Amino acid sequence: MSKFQIGKDILNKHTLALPINKSKYRQIIFPCHLGIIFIGNVSTSMLNKLRFHLDQTFDSFFFDIQFIDDISLHPDMFELRVKEEYNLLNKSSEKVLLQPTNKFYEIIIDKKSEYNLDIGLGLTNLPIYSSNNEKLLFLFGEAHIKYMCAIVSTHNLIDLFNLEDFKLKKIEKRIYKEVVHEIGHLILGCGHCFNNYCVMHFSKNIKEIDSKSIYLCENCKLKLEKIREKDNF
Ligand SMILES: [Zn+2]
Ligand SMILES: [Zn+2]
Repeated sequence: MSKFQIGKDILNKHTLALPINKSKYRQIIFPCHLGIIFIGNVSTSMLNKLRFHLDQTFDSFFFDIQFIDDISLHPDMFELRVKEEYNLLNKSSEKVLLQPTNKFYEIIIDKKSEYNLDIGLGLTNLPIYSSNNEKLLFLFGEAHIKYMCAIVSTHNLIDLFNLEDFKLKKIEKRIYKEVVHEIGHLILGCGHCFNNYCVMHFSKNIKEIDSKSIYLCENCKLKLEKIREKDNF
């Protein structure tokens, strides 16, 4: 690690440290309060359908789902820890600025205490990379179980080289699947499902997102039932 990198890390830890107040990531007991936070330029036209899919999959796991929109990254925050990279997934010849996932976790944790949420999921149009593993670029989404928050980026859910892809319904469907998938992690844990059709299956590209369903397989449904039994609801 170069001197410059060390200095940069110290600066980032100082300005981007996640709160260590334990009350902010207490053990969740279901049912609980879920919030979906729109960060950046994300269309809110899909609220009803998103609610429908979440209710359908995680029936009775949430008392309510709050939608919080119009949250933007503060200009001072925007430049912090960004990575400038070519978007290989979209074969783009232009570099774009990727945001680290923990920048979003900070915002979500704040909104969780402001709105009394137990789980917060951020939805953004900005490209993201993982703060846990900086080699993971252009993620579709990531969940942070300790802080009970997750982020989904719509940036790479659109295939710029496939005109068919501009059909909004197709893109929206991918967003619903990724949101259900990340919330699934926060409830079921970080493992992925081996069933190709299960929404908890890992997708390494949009083709794989398209080929899986939005539903949990019987195995994953059983895991949900066990949590329901344990928390007695
Ligand atoms: Zn996953
Ligand atoms: Zn499954």
